[in-house]
Amino acid sequence: MNNEKKYLLGLTLAELKQVAKDLGMPAFTGGQMAKWLYEQHVKSIDEMTNISKANRAKLAAEYEIGCFGNSDAQHSVDGTIKYLFPTRSGKFVETVYIPDKDRATLCVSSQVGCKMNCLFCQTGKQGFEGSLPAGDILNQIYSLPEVDKLTNIVFMGQGEPMDNLDNVLRATEILTADYGWAWSPKRITVSSVGVKNKLKRFLEESDCHVAISMHDPIPSERAELMPAERGMGIEQVVELLRNYDFSHQRRLSFEYIVFKGVNDSMQHAKAIIKLVKGLDCRFNLIRFHKFQTFLCKVWMMRRWSSSVITSPSMVSSPPSVPAAARTSTLPAVCSAPRRKSEKSVSTRMKRR
Ligand code: SF4
Repeated sequence: MNNEKKYLLGLTLAELKQVAKDLGMPAFTGGQMAKWLYEQHVKSIDEMTNISKANRAKLAAEYEIGCFGNSDAQHSVDGTIKYLFPTRSGKFVETVYIPDKDRATLCVSSQVGCKMNCLFCQTGKQGFEGSLPAGDILNQIYSLPEVDKLTNIVFMGQGEPMDNLDNVLRATEILTADYGWAWSPKRITVSSVGVKNKLKRFLEESDCHVAISMHDPIPSERAELMPAERGMGIEQVVELLRNYDFSHQRRLSFEYIVFKGVNDSMQHAKAIIKLVKGLDCRFNLIRFHKFQTFLCKVWMMRRWSSSVITSPSMVSSPPSVPAAARTSTLPAVCSAPRRKSEKSVSTRMKRR
């Protein structure tokens, strides 16, 4: 990472035109740069061959692309690959490539670490180390070896996207703009635990799909699992969502990790139905493999009776869950360990 030069990846068309103008080049050179970046994914300014050699030299004196290849990759037998990408600040984030029949989904990170501190999440335990600039978010796509195979992108990696909203909106703009990747917003899903004021802004300014991490419909219990409940409660989140139309192009889903004996009782199913009644949405039920310290913590907090603790899991049979209930195969990437030295693989890999 070069600390002296600025980066082109992550700039909008208007900003690229400004770069050209500031360097004394015609404005259309900014459009040429956008094509080389977002259509051709060039790795160096020298590859921008329809820009004159003199202008490429001027550009290269102040800028570089800002793409950084992965420093590690862990492969699963099912084809899932977990990459470690360096950031401009010298840290690392995880990105997971998930091929599945005719789809290939990329789960990207928006922050290094996370402030939300969800009880079940390893990233939350590691604390917060910074938000990614849009260029670092886009680099996870730009530098992905399988970039040409991608069909979907989900912002479900490390970090809370609403806590880095300006950069997430900039990244999704470049992904969906005609001058950028020109993807349909229907191919992009942004997830959130629900962050006051930010979620509303995202709903207003983006057309991408929305996934809300619910994990428990009962506010007092959800607050134990997810401290963010105290900032914007799930009931407030749902009330806000009711103001938007999810019946056509835009999809609303709720993520629900099923913790046996914690959030899988009939009481929870009934609370979910009551909470989302009338809302056009789907639920992604996510399996969670026991990690004892997590369960002990929840049990101690709740002091539940053993009969509740041993109640059957809803994972394979969710008769009361509204909307298009299905069992997700997406990994809980945000809860995966992120350090290069750790040999653990993603949740999906662990299931195998
Ligand atoms: S689950 Fe998501 S929002 Fe919660 S701590 Fe982990 S990364 Fe942050």
